[in-house]
Amino acid sequence: MRVLVATEETQGDRADDYTWATPGELVMFGVICATDLRGTGRGCGCGRAFAGLHSERATTTAQVAEWPSSLDDVVLAFRDSLARGGWLDFGGTEEEVHAVVVEAVMEVLLVADRYPAGTVIGTDRGRQYVRQPAAAR
Ligand SMILES: [Zn+2]
Repeated sequence: MRVLVATEETQGDRADDYTWATPGELVMFGVICATDLRGTGRGCGCGRAFAGLHSERATTTAQVAEWPSSLDDVVLAFRDSLARGGWLDFGGTEEEVHAVVVEAVMEVLLVADRYPAGTVIGTDRGRQYVRQPAAAR
């Protein structure tokens, strides 16, 4: 199964790059603020961010990686991170909470599935782009 992990590869190639995530940790897409969504004025940069599941820090660079664990383990990791961040405290039923977790996982899996492992990607308000193609094997 391919997932997205934080990477420092290609960091700094763009003037607006930043990274506080831990290289190699799982990442997901975070919530994007209204200013960044509109793309007007000086946004905070969250529209370009991947969110580290463990560090709870953001990065503008992610790498597609083959992940050895099961889908259940990935769902559990996302659930744990979202719960720690308070994102699951919206008063939903267990079913609704699970749906939020699965949606966050699927968003990542669908993107990771589009590229070969090793590809470094960026994201801009929900659209991803290749920063560095996977190295030839
Ligand atoms: Zn923002």
